[in-house]
Amino acid sequence: MQNKNATFKISYKVRKASFVCIFCFICTVSANAFGHGKALSSHTALSSQTAHSEQKTISSTETTSTHKAHSHNESLSDHKAHNYKEPLQQKTPATATYLANEGILISTDKVKVLFDPFFHNDYNIYQLVPDETLKAIMNNETPYNDISAIFVSHAHGDHFAEQDMLDYMLKHSAVELVAPAQAITEMQELSGFEKVKSRITKIELAYEEAPISFSVNDIKVDAVRIPHAGWPGRADVSNIVYRVRLPHEMDGNKDELTFIHMGDADPNDKHFRPLRTFWEAQKTTVAFPPYWFFLTNTGNYILDYRINAEKSVGVHVPKQVPVPLLQSGKPYFSKPGEVMEIGTEVK
Ligand SMILES: [Zn+2]
Ligand SMILES: [Zn+2]
Repeated sequence: MQNKNATFKISYKVRKASFVCIFCFICTVSANAFGHGKALSSHTALSSQTAHSEQKTISSTETTSTHKAHSHNESLSDHKAHNYKEPLQQKTPATATYLANEGILISTDKVKVLFDPFFHNDYNIYQLVPDETLKAIMNNETPYNDISAIFVSHAHGDHFAEQDMLDYMLKHSAVELVAPAQAITEMQELSGFEKVKSRITKIELAYEEAPISFSVNDIKVDAVRIPHAGWPGRADVSNIVYRVRLPHEMDGNKDELTFIHMGDADPNDKHFRPLRTFWEAQKTTVAFPPYWFFLTNTGNYILDYRINAEKSVGVHVPKQVPVPLLQSGKPYFSKPGEVMEIGTEVK
């Protein structure tokens, strides 16, 4: 049983075209000036195996490249919503539920994980996680119950809120956290951190270091640092791309589904090309890139040919969906609560 012929379905409503900041990562670059980048301590050196307490610290080492920005065209038209394929032919082994921005819940019949679930800054552009959803997560209510692990891409305010994360971990004693050191540093300031630190895997990777692999509960994780959008600006931001393999079982057959969460990755193949063998080694069922990957040829090339993903679904979509994204015909999440079913076709 493999993930080969996965099909997808999403519940969505057609949205009206609106005209905003079309190239969000450029927008976020300028947002730097007003604080999208929370005070982040500049990245200090490479992999230090600081096994502070029981906290696991993970890192590695490697090579180089350079960058070039991309432009794109814009034009108006009404939304032609998400191009999802036919509904599933059989039961769904997994679902992805959209929280907001880059927050996603992925559920299989065996495990549930959250990506970037807690944050409170929308920069007046992005979706926030609705209060009821946050409450449901905190109170372990379906479908947000029994989360095995939480992954944080980076320590920006539209992806990470340290107090919420700590509160959640204090309340849910089985959950594991995987996050870059920059996020953990913020949590360390809070009282109560000592009680959760043994369940934290701290990622310390430098740009161009080799990916690392480890397991968290039953989840196999690959992590690699890909620069934040706007590169070479913001090179100090540790943006982690995760590739996770989640166990599931169908008709008595044990299998895995693989997902990539990209954080605010920069859509430049210079970051991805050197990792060719890493991408080739594992097919991914669904990747969740920030939507700006859909707006450049290079971004689309990375998604379609580089990272070995069967499907890419955009996230980090502004409340007012950018026209070029509407026109791209690419699938994306933009409304909190949207659910995508991920299945395997009958062969
Ligand atoms: Zn960011
Ligand atoms: Zn962001």
